[in-house]
Amino acid sequence: MTDRLVINHATVREKMDMTAFVKACSRRGLSMVSIWENEIDRIGKAAAKEVLTQTGSRVFGYNRAGPLLASSATERRQRLDAAKRSIDLALEFDADHVLLFPGGAPEGEKGLDGARGMTEEAVGHLLDHLGDGAARLALEPLHPMLAGDRSSIVSMSHANDICDRLGRNLGIVVDVYHVWWDERLDEEIARAGKHGRIAGFHVNDWLVPTKHTLTDRGMMGDGVIDLAHLWNAVKRAGYDGPIEVEIFSDDWWARDADAVIDLCIERCASIFGLVMERA
Ligand code: ZN
Repeated sequence: MTDRLVINHATVREKMDMTAFVKACSRRGLSMVSIWENEIDRIGKAAAKEVLTQTGSRVFGYNRAGPLLASSATERRQRLDAAKRSIDLALEFDADHVLLFPGGAPEGEKGLDGARGMTEEAVGHLLDHLGDGAARLALEPLHPMLAGDRSSIVSMSHANDICDRLGRNLGIVVDVYHVWWDERLDEEIARAGKHGRIAGFHVNDWLVPTKHTLTDRGMMGDGVIDLAHLWNAVKRAGYDGPIEVEIFSDDWWARDADAVIDLCIERCASIFGLVMERA
């Protein structure tokens, strides 16, 4: 079994439910999976736990706590409570980290200052809720094209600044799709690494042209991101966790899920030099 490579369920979610997905990863010698709460809901908590136990699989990334933002204080409180429940569930599943999903700027807002303030406040509350738990919360800076509707945190430097202010148990997931364009990326990765903040490394690729910012991510090697360079940068920064494949793509969702997983493993092996050891 290997813990160097993780597949995120979203990569094959259209063709495999969580049970089939966890078994497919386990069959290929992958000891960890990254999972989604809505997929747990689809098959039921008992079945989700059962397949993890049965295959001896561990949960790496847990998606997700959020959305957090809303225009009214009441609604924000409700969302915060829901996010706390997600964190509790992630702890129940013994996840390594929980992805934070701020969500879009509240209706009627102009600019991102309000959204950024609200996000940081909410994350502070969630860190208090988490306490000194085994898992940590993770900010994932998203691509700036998604600032309006998904997250106002769109750069590694912003994520690092928030971590500086909010402190322990808050990490950063580096997703190449979202951050590859940043001219300060290497130094911000080094900065995150210096504080032991890198919680995960998500891989896929940026296609040229990209038809849709959310559902047209590329398979590793098909686009223009210098994946090997970024992997070396996170490793140099001290990250010793796995590479996680996360591809949101109408194109790949339409294909045979087993073949997609095999190709992900093959591409990671050739790009990152990962040796897949079988038990
Ligand atoms: Zn990601």
